[in-house]
Amino acid sequence: MLLEYQTTTPEEVDNINKELTGKNASEVIEWGYKTYGDDLVYACSLGAEGMVLLDLINKVQPGAKVIFLDTDFHFKQTYDLLKKVREFFPDLEIKAVKPELTVKEQAEQHGDKLWETDPDKCCALRKLEPLENELAKHKAWMSGLRREQSPTRKNTQFVNIDNRFNSIKICPLIHWTWDEVWEHIKNNNLPYNILHDQNFPSIGCFHCTSAVLDGQDSRSGRWSGSGKTECGLHK
Ligand code: SF4
Repeated sequence: MLLEYQTTTPEEVDNINKELTGKNASEVIEWGYKTYGDDLVYACSLGAEGMVLLDLINKVQPGAKVIFLDTDFHFKQTYDLLKKVREFFPDLEIKAVKPELTVKEQAEQHGDKLWETDPDKCCALRKLEPLENELAKHKAWMSGLRREQSPTRKNTQFVNIDNRFNSIKICPLIHWTWDEVWEHIKNNNLPYNILHDQNFPSIGCFHCTSAVLDGQDSRSGRWSGSGKTECGLHK
């Protein structure tokens, strides 16, 4: 049954989630592509979970559409990984999506260090609006959210109504632990961001990402000290 944002009720989503209870990530991915086909796009941040999802998607749906939000502010190691991922998964259609404003135009219009003066605005310009434009072309999107990542993600379901982007969001990895993610990466010799080996469990733009101390929450290195915990993609 095709769930479309405009017509789907919370009850219908609950019923689908009941049907998917007990399924593994690959089975949820299969359901996603059987249901939406080309109308499903995976928004990959190239994090550790992203490597797992790319691998599982590639096995289920070679040729699947993937987008990477290129804010222009990623670490060099992340751009290196993007190149490696394209070589490793040649069948996937991986598109880097840029913001409308260049870095220079953003500085001219909104000030030099918007990520410091108004990080929500900076994320809106460089991540949310570009994603919104892409998702408007699709009926559903996929994300690598895991419940244990943060308190704000603990109620995520396999299938979710996404009121932020007027879409349906599919999250096959909700039950995976951090250790399981890494076991899958190692067992399948997948590429990954080498910053993970330097205490960066969660990696975003270099302006807003720092290493974490042992025992700290895996997302505590994102916008640390600012009170901001999410870029707004998953609110
Ligand atoms: S993470 Fe930081 S630099 Fe990147 S878009 Fe958001 S505020 Fe801007």
